[in-house]
Amino acid sequence: MPPIVHQDLSATQQCVMCGMCVPHCPTYALSQNEADGPRGRIALMLGMAQERLELDNKVIEHLDACLSCRACEQVCPSKVPYGQLIDASRAHINVLVNGRAPARSRWMRIVRDQVLLRPTRLRVLGGLTRMTQRLRLDWLPMPSSLKRLTRLAPPLAPAFRPLEIYPVSHPRGRVGLFLGCMGSVFEAENLRAAIVVLNAWGYEVRVPRKQGCCGAMHQHGGDPQRGQAMAAKVAQLFQALELDAVVGVSSGCIAQLKEHAGMKAGIKAFELSDFLWQQQPAPLPAMQPLQRRVAVHLPCTQRNVLRTGNSAMKLLSLIPALEVIELAGNERCCGAAGTHMLTHPTQADALSAPKIEAFRALGAAQMVSTNIGCAMHLGGGLRKTEATAEVIHPVRLLAESLTSPY
Ligand code: SF4
Ligand code: SF4
Repeated sequence: MPPIVHQDLSATQQCVMCGMCVPHCPTYALSQNEADGPRGRIALMLGMAQERLELDNKVIEHLDACLSCRACEQVCPSKVPYGQLIDASRAHINVLVNGRAPARSRWMRIVRDQVLLRPTRLRVLGGLTRMTQRLRLDWLPMPSSLKRLTRLAPPLAPAFRPLEIYPVSHPRGRVGLFLGCMGSVFEAENLRAAIVVLNAWGYEVRVPRKQGCCGAMHQHGGDPQRGQAMAAKVAQLFQALELDAVVGVSSGCIAQLKEHAGMKAGIKAFELSDFLWQQQPAPLPAMQPLQRRVAVHLPCTQRNVLRTGNSAMKLLSLIPALEVIELAGNERCCGAAGTHMLTHPTQADALSAPKIEAFRALGAAQMVSTNIGCAMHLGGGLRKTEATAEVIHPVRLLAESLTSPY
């Protein structure tokens, strides 16, 4: 039996149970059950902290079904740190009910630790995904979370195999590009485009090998200590390079690094669209017009954690002729929520459905998002009716519009 680590749930006492957060909660909106909203979940955490509550499977499920979207935190007048509380309560449960966790969570941990965090195995999975997509082999028996991952994976480009340095003449600065554990397989084109645009913006790009994972899946999946250690390791790697900034194409990873890697004193981490918007060169490099309409999805990590506004919208407005429209319902989580889209597919699909509908109603050619999980989840929804649809990072459109082909 592992030692019991008591998590700090004392901030539950800050909650005055006013309920102002409840209408903003996507899971409450679906079930209309108090225990599936923030106030109800905080009451469960309080019971847990005071050892007045038996941790049966129902309680675990109400906490497990939370998206960690932190919409509740944004509107709370008492400033309850809900994100920290839900991470701590999952860690608390993990230790207390070790071995009694729902089967899907156990499978998910195996998929996370044995596949997603192992670059060689992930590349093999990428190859298998390509094959299952082409030959329509997703009827083959495999764990449900793995099967769903192969369905949500975007149409795959060749893996991204980075050089250490992408130089420019007379650089105005030097940035590090964080790949993310799944990036080189599932975001290869986004990463290639990021280098093109950063170079065009005048930045030399450093891409250290063997970067590791930011730890977000562990942070929100019951093991925040390990999540923080992973984030700190990534920070150390980049800090040794003496950079002006670290940028990444996934807001979830950058949010984890900013909140949990202790990077505040050293290197600054930015989601790429925030960085590019803030650091526009003058004059801007020449861009080709793109005659199309695009819809911009805003991830919860960008809205509720990084709180940088919709930089993607502003950045895309720099491209001549491009019609940029904000996707309706951006104030609500799309259901991807890290590994949630794999462990809670019904809830995840119910939350993405209105966004897919809103996108179709717009008649837009493409959807963009700054987070890999959201892009995979929404892309999977779009591919139910359009086999090659993909949700891309906005930097792909910038790279396309720059005069130099990439
Ligand atoms: S978390 Fe904040 S908004 Fe929600 S019930 Fe508690 S005090 Fe009110
Ligand atoms: S984090 Fe999101 S899903 Fe969880 S309780 Fe808050 S609003 Fe609801």
